[in-house]
Amino acid sequence: MPLLDVDRDLTRHSYYAATAPREASFPTLQGAVSADVAIVGGGLAGLSAAIELHDRGFDVVLLEARQVGWGASGRNGGQAIHGLACDQDVIETQLGLEAARRVWDMSIEALDLIRQRIARFGIDCDWRDGYLAVATSERKARELRAWVERVERVYGYPQQWIGRDELPRWLASPRYVAGAADPRSGHLHPLKYSLGLARAAAALGVRIYEHSAVTRLDAGAPLRLHTAQGDVAARRVLLAGNVYLQQFAPEVAPQLAARIMPVGTYIVATPPLGTERAAALIPSGCAVCDTNFVLDYFRTTPDHRLIYGGRVSYSTATPMNLAAGMRRRMVRTFPQLDDVEVEHAWGGFVDISMNRAPDFGRIGGDVYYVQGFSGHGLALTGLAGKLVAEAIAGDASRFDTFARVKHRPFPGGRLLRMPALVAGMAWYRLRDLL
Ligand SMILES: Cc1cc2nc3c(=O)[nH]c(=O)nc-3n(C[C@H](O)[C@H](O)[C@H](O)COP(=O)(O)OP(=O)(O)OC[C@H]3O[C@@H](n4cnc5c(N)ncnc54)[C@H](O)[C@@H]3O)c2cc1C
Repeated sequence: MPLLDVDRDLTRHSYYAATAPREASFPTLQGAVSADVAIVGGGLAGLSAAIELHDRGFDVVLLEARQVGWGASGRNGGQAIHGLACDQDVIETQLGLEAARRVWDMSIEALDLIRQRIARFGIDCDWRDGYLAVATSERKARELRAWVERVERVYGYPQQWIGRDELPRWLASPRYVAGAADPRSGHLHPLKYSLGLARAAAALGVRIYEHSAVTRLDAGAPLRLHTAQGDVAARRVLLAGNVYLQQFAPEVAPQLAARIMPVGTYIVATPPLGTERAAALIPSGCAVCDTNFVLDYFRTTPDHRLIYGGRVSYSTATPMNLAAGMRRRMVRTFPQLDDVEVEHAWGGFVDISMNRAPDFGRIGGDVYYVQGFSGHGLALTGLAGKLVAEAIAGDASRFDTFARVKHRPFPGGRLLRMPALVAGMAWYRLRDLL
């Protein structure tokens, strides 16, 4: 995996960091501790697993290299969406239709889980119902409609079709020709949600340590995780470090490295636009995402800003003139914002797997891992944590449904993988343009 530009910490300039101040921090691990389960990574996957494991009676330690929510979980587009990053036919082909239906249903359970946790822990994170997928051409609209009809017929999941005439009542952009609305998906402030889960986990009794990067994992019973100033002995370990795991701890699970690639994606936020101007952009209040391979995704916030995401970096280097480039994309979608500057610009890495399906599994029996959310992990990470907890508590059936999905490594060694990815992505980008 290439070295990531993690120290040029783009979160510093994020709208989320500016609007969700960290009221408390967690201590750094010092000395030796033990637990039933040790979790590496304080993103939504790790935090979800911590809560679910605690609920099942396990004593849990969570180790985070930086701060909870520092990774993708505290920076993302905030769009909690049904399904997986890959098409359902990837799962159907590999596991058959019945298993694919179970996977789809679990993706919907993942949405419900967010609502349940917000209610259970009283997390104030600006949740709003509604998601709109939109098409940029008639051909893409036909594809989207065929998909909507199939998802209803095969998976029993209805969505509302929004034709060209009706679309302006949902979204005021000349770029799009049709859409599909899903009231069960929605959007939230991801850093507030992540910090809320961390607070909840700690209140339950999960021991969270920040600035405690795991650098080594010793096999044995118990397993032993080492940080700069301490170590944790645990019977089970969950690796939930996203692309950062290979960065902070390349020796811990090198066999996972070639199964995902880091891809940078970026977001800007406008200043507050005023109630009416913001509402006029997306009258439905939905989170919106187009169906292009290199997609644009956007939504408005309770303080009446537009948050606009898109653009990718396969080289992982932060694009030059990020804010200006993103602003151009935003104005292409909303020409009515051509007098608006952007106030925040930030980004992060997603963990793309070769087939875009999530990659869950075990190493040597007692080390679990979840990765490969491929840019579609806000809701699914919550479910992943729950499935790991179920498996550790003795029922691995749902975890193993995902673990049976086969993943091919990205071709080439550490240095050749990236050119292969860039070439593959260039082809898909060309398809978007055509
Ligand atoms: C800009 C952006 C926009 C996105 N938009 C959306 C969206 O709108 N909808 C959606 O569904 N998904 C979206 N995603 C994807 C989604 O955010 C991720 O799939 C999800 O947050 C991944 O959660 P995670 O817990 O696996 O990883 P992360 O949140 O990245 O957490 C992993 C944590 O592990 C820690 N860690 C790693 N190695 C170690 C170690 N050795 N020791 C200790 N700690 C370690 C890291 O510091 C990090 O905090 C987006 C992602 C990005 C970057």
